[in-house]
Amino acid sequence: SNRIMLGPLVAAIDQGTSSTRFLVFNAKTAELLSHHQVEIKQSFPKEGWVEEDPKEILQSVYECMDRTCEKLTQLNIDISNIKAIGVTNQRETTLVWDKETGEPLYNAIVWLDLRTQSTVERLISKTPGRNKNHLKHKTGLPISTYFSAVKLRWLLDNVDEVAEAVVTHRAMFGTVDSWLIWCLTGGKSGGVHCTDVTNASRTMLFNIHTLDWDPELCKYFDIPMEILPKVRSSSEIYGLMVSPGSLTGIPISGCLGDQSAALVGQMCFQDGQAKNTYGTGCFLLRNTGAKPVMSDHGLLTTVAYKLGRDKPACYALEGSVAIAGAVVRWLKDNLGIIQTSTELEKLAASVGTSYGCYFVPAFSGLYAPYWEPSARGIICGLTQFTNRSHLAFAALEAVCFQTREILDAMNQDSGIPLTQLQVDGGMTSNRLLMQLQADILCIPVVKPSMPETTALGAAMAAGAAEGVSVWSLRPEDLSEVTSEKFEPQINPEGTRRFSKRRSSMPLTTVAVSLNMGE
Ligand code: ADP
Repeated sequence: SNRIMLGPLVAAIDQGTSSTRFLVFNAKTAELLSHHQVEIKQSFPKEGWVEEDPKEILQSVYECMDRTCEKLTQLNIDISNIKAIGVTNQRETTLVWDKETGEPLYNAIVWLDLRTQSTVERLISKTPGRNKNHLKHKTGLPISTYFSAVKLRWLLDNVDEVAEAVVTHRAMFGTVDSWLIWCLTGGKSGGVHCTDVTNASRTMLFNIHTLDWDPELCKYFDIPMEILPKVRSSSEIYGLMVSPGSLTGIPISGCLGDQSAALVGQMCFQDGQAKNTYGTGCFLLRNTGAKPVMSDHGLLTTVAYKLGRDKPACYALEGSVAIAGAVVRWLKDNLGIIQTSTELEKLAASVGTSYGCYFVPAFSGLYAPYWEPSARGIICGLTQFTNRSHLAFAALEAVCFQTREILDAMNQDSGIPLTQLQVDGGMTSNRLLMQLQADILCIPVVKPSMPETTALGAAMAAGAAEGVSVWSLRPEDLSEVTSEKFEPQINPEGTRRFSKRRSSMPLTTVAVSLNMGE
């Protein structure tokens, strides 16, 4: 047959909160050749709880791989050209499994989950001065429900199978990257138990300066260190694919938490470069180079990437917002005012204003810059006139306002305001959202025309790994990225509306106050 000659290809597994994707890129041009996506079920067994099934996550990866390989074959592209596979994943989501049976011992506790709120409050009350930043000098993070350590603590305390597996030395802890790499490299028959520095930096057990698990942190949360995966760089060969068939033997050689992968995929390699990703949540990361910068304004300090065993680690300041796209899913699944997430734009555009309605979707407490687990969502400013279109518009504005808050914090911390914002993620297909965001930030919003930047970052890390070396990360070799720019359009009326917004108290502050009965 006449197979198309393309040169080396690199694949990426993008395991997100709402879906799993498998994508194949041309290593020379960064062109996306084929991909497949499968939605992931989320269960909410109790108020505030969010779980996913680890086996469904794994199955979704296999399904995406199979379907993508089928599509490549239909395109006459030879699958044997795939030289490496990268993994990128929802961060912090916590799993424990049995290394002898290969079975998960509980559902994955998703990063958004709030079940550890009381544990967090107890831990904070025990720290000197009730300081939620007690461990920040080592971890870059506040004590919060968000990070893996407290979720793992909950599993050890509440799930007998987990406690038992620890005693019998059969327990393995991991975030989604570790679970997938272990399974894909052989699972119970010799799978590799590892994670990368970016995922490790979100557990609260990892010292971001020494780049290793920290015995003191493990003692603080009373976590047995033997259940932790080995920490590796974000770009090196971890192991070879054992299954499924057509991909057997291909090295898995890239691993990055999704937000780090997006930073790499957006080519933000320079100190000061930033990107904002709009997925389930919303995450603004700014590269701070080789130095971890501690925030005075409620941002996180995190490992951005370490692209090779002998390469230095790069750090980032991060503003994390728990609920962005999740509010769209909520309007769809819980209120039923839209049937698909794409309908939201038309609904909101039909009115073009929230008509004084405000929506604070603090479903999982508030993350940056507040770190207030007890906050809850509110919708206010309702009148007889308010309808579902206004609500839809207010939901989009809520995402923009939350981004504005973290951008302001970022600008204050770094002293150098961002002059434009690079964006990506599932929600950026919403053009109304992009325009609103530019208007609310008063800076241009720049969206790459290839939207899969998270997967691209993971593919780049995998392709550049020592021993693979099919992808160059030298700036001069990187392909030109085409993008679309949304300029702020501030008309006189808009200015008036906007300055009114700016002079009022940030809306999320109102929400926190209301929730705390102040
Ligand atoms: P994740 O990586 O967290 O799984 P994605 O980047 O895949 O998320 O984005 C999916 C999210 O984006 C979902 O929460 C969905 O509700 C939202 N979304 C997708 N398309 C649109 C759209 N056109 N308008 C608004 N929200 C959208």
